[in-house]
Amino acid sequence: MTVKWWLTDRCRLCVMPIILGAFLGFVIAATPGHAVGAEPKIVIIEFHGMKKGVLDESLEGLPHFRELIKGPGNDHAYTYLPDVLTTIPAASVPAIASMYTGLYPQRTGVVSTIWFNRRRHKVRTMISYFQQRINRILEKKGVETLFDYTKKTGRQSMTSMLMVTKGADWSLKSGAFFWGNASVVGFVRSGIWIPDGKYTDEKTVSAFLTGHVLSYNKSLAGVLEKQHRIPDVMVIQLLGIDLFSHYPPRDLREKNASMEEIQRYYAQEVLDPLLGRLIRALKKAGCYDDTIFFLISEHGFTKIEKHVSDKFVDRSLQGEFKLPYGETTNSQADAVIMPGACTKEIYLKNRLTGKWMDPPRLLADIKPAVDHLLDNPGIRDSLNCLVIRQYPGERNEGIAEHDLWWLFDWNIYMNSERDDDDYLRALRPLNELSDQITLKKYVIRGLECQYTRETAPDIKLINKKGRYYERDLNKYAHHGSYYPDDNMVSFWVAGPGLSSIISGRHVVTETASTLDLVPMVTYLLGMPVPEGLDGTNPLRDIQGRN
Ligand SMILES: [Zn+2]
Repeated sequence: MTVKWWLTDRCRLCVMPIILGAFLGFVIAATPGHAVGAEPKIVIIEFHGMKKGVLDESLEGLPHFRELIKGPGNDHAYTYLPDVLTTIPAASVPAIASMYTGLYPQRTGVVSTIWFNRRRHKVRTMISYFQQRINRILEKKGVETLFDYTKKTGRQSMTSMLMVTKGADWSLKSGAFFWGNASVVGFVRSGIWIPDGKYTDEKTVSAFLTGHVLSYNKSLAGVLEKQHRIPDVMVIQLLGIDLFSHYPPRDLREKNASMEEIQRYYAQEVLDPLLGRLIRALKKAGCYDDTIFFLISEHGFTKIEKHVSDKFVDRSLQGEFKLPYGETTNSQADAVIMPGACTKEIYLKNRLTGKWMDPPRLLADIKPAVDHLLDNPGIRDSLNCLVIRQYPGERNEGIAEHDLWWLFDWNIYMNSERDDDDYLRALRPLNELSDQITLKKYVIRGLECQYTRETAPDIKLINKKGRYYERDLNKYAHHGSYYPDDNMVSFWVAGPGLSSIISGRHVVTETASTLDLVPMVTYLLGMPVPEGLDGTNPLRDIQGRN
């Protein structure tokens, strides 16, 4: 990308929101008594990467959040879900694919942010400017989204900045212009070429309300003007808190701010005023009083305590395993290593048959890789657990394979002779996961439900909390680990429209899941809750349903 072409467009972008904003005022004023039915509207505001508790603990300092959740007279109904588990991995792309489908990653096909497909010998990454990759996978697999379900019942949906748009009637997306501008602002503000959170979020809300260049018809004002209606389900994905948390400004870094301090600061400075703007616009559009808001997040955040070098893993293996460098293609390679974060995924080929779809041999392929990895003190220093993939019914080396993963007890193994018997003895059932994994059951389920046969790695290194394989030393914080800071978020279901369905204030004490979003939304809209989902509906048993 060159700097020049989007600098010119930047100027155009500055002018458009002003014109469109003025037009929105006109359109809203000129649309008399648009349909206000008994059925509520759903607005999902996704605060990308917001940690559990950030809103709850600082609600007093967030007047617009307080108004939205509790009402101006502190008498509104709400339902609070303080403990919501994300899917594994707690990374944006797989997490939102699961959240808006109600299905675990292995069923959406979006199993991670980047993975290796053993059948096609291809590394698949989900990062793209055009943001169509998730939709393509969902389409190919015939996976339905919240928006497909909405459409089936004759309702309409719109999304702003969300990458999952399959089935949505109107979807506003970012593009290279947008990210170019956001990066310029980021560079000016912090000296790093990273998109600026505030800019990103402000433009997202503007896009939602009035559209950005050429997309007015997909914005709330456009839909209202052209279709004379307000969509039934609206999603606004605000990426800013994720960007801000990865790369907080210098002053916060210098005082070694905690993630809570960083995210509370952002909530106060950026999100609360934006929420105020949104409330005002929805009131003006005449739908605020019928709206139920979901305030949600798809993963949490952890401050990086130590950047672990990717090279440790490559260097450990490259003596014995051919890696895909230079002339060596993936299909010729013996091992393919993912970039990783708090976990590191290693795919191994069966070096006897030379086929990627054949399970690698336990003793002849996996053991040497494990040995090389554990010989490296840099890897050991950050390692918490190590898990090894099983191939039930496909591989028989004298040890039964019934599950999908073994826990490899590397501490005991390191204190042994490390012969074949020691290695086989160290392959333990996954439910013996150490106490260092507090969310043990959840992690076991998450690991079992993440991959497909084609996409599963053979070795997964699970680091200690705060230890990330991350090349960018400027990155202050990250997510994707198996610890509660990344895996536990909180949801609010609130807004003036809620009391017509669930009155009173409720706290859901049971742990919910981001997979529960689709069941909850469909339930509140009075639609049939789709069958066969991995999520359930925690609102179902709440007393006070009207
Ligand atoms: Zn992120």
